[in-house]
Amino acid sequence: AVTALAVTLTACGGSDGSDGSGDKGDSGAAVRIGLLLPENETARYEKFDKPLMEKKVALLTLGKGKVLYANAGGDAARQSAQADAMIKDKVDVLVIDAVDSKAIAGAVTKAKDAGIAVVAYDRLAEGPIDAYTSFDNEDVGRVQGKALLDALGDKARTGKIVMMNGAVTDPNAASFKSGARSVLDGKVNVGKEYDTVEWKPENATANMAAALSALGKDKVVGVYSANDGMAGGIIAALKAAGVSPLPPVTGQDAELAGVRRIVAGEQFMTVYKPYAREAEAAAELAVLLAQGEKIDGIINQVVSSPTTKRVPAVLIPGVPVTREDIRTTVILDGVYTPEEICNDA
Ligand code: BGC
Repeated sequence: AVTALAVTLTACGGSDGSDGSGDKGDSGAAVRIGLLLPENETARYEKFDKPLMEKKVALLTLGKGKVLYANAGGDAARQSAQADAMIKDKVDVLVIDAVDSKAIAGAVTKAKDAGIAVVAYDRLAEGPIDAYTSFDNEDVGRVQGKALLDALGDKARTGKIVMMNGAVTDPNAASFKSGARSVLDGKVNVGKEYDTVEWKPENATANMAAALSALGKDKVVGVYSANDGMAGGIIAALKAAGVSPLPPVTGQDAELAGVRRIVAGEQFMTVYKPYAREAEAAAELAVLLAQGEKIDGIINQVVSSPTTKRVPAVLIPGVPVTREDIRTTVILDGVYTPEEICNDA
């Protein structure tokens, strides 16, 4: 089973047959994990995912593990180059949150050929991955769709909604969309729908402005936004067009700006995804793989593409957050303090 205990015993030198110093080559670190994150316009990656993973790796390796980090800034080619550099540098494991799940497949194969295990993080990278951690992304979409439908009430029949989906290169975006559509289809009129090339708030602003002129600003009764970053961009466009009151806008990530907008009554909801659970699961898997341990005891599996191999997957549910839920979700979990949320809210 993936347990901290199994990892700690190995890190203590009890079962790996080493001299227990934990040294590997000239790195001085027991395990070296390459962490590749996709972009930095969305707050979660450097605020939560990276530090949470570093902390867990340190804990599991008694301070001897090291996380080498690179952020692709939304550029798939740059991410492949970053992966190549880490493969050259002989990291033990790569944890990859792909900019483009197909474009990264070559790097995943290269890693595999070099004997480096790969954990797909949050987005299901293509190629011969060894494990996957994410949220139940279809369910995240259902949660968003359901909240929007509830907020629309009777207006669902009379007005139009705009759907602002995520990046086409990100398989999660397709899952969010299909989850949302499974709830919304047949119950709302979708006036305009946008699938973006990159997850960028400014794209959402431009698309929303275009949707308002095409549909008429009084006709838009709600907006499905795949994440909080885009929700910010959408709300900016609604305000710029003088739409008042603002229609319900969904989101995802429970990022601080999004939670503040919810408190201010500008954004209707977000989805809180407990990042600690995702990052810690990835850290456990990565450390086990780095130490050549078997991964077992994980019930969920996903089918990796194009290998069609079933790989162990840790999938965590997301939690809907409207104004009423802030205290019992992100505050209770210690993600933000009330002061942080309320200062300049
Ligand atoms: C993640 C979201 C994030 C989005 C943009 C998705 O793959 O699951 O949490 O908002 O990418 O980076």
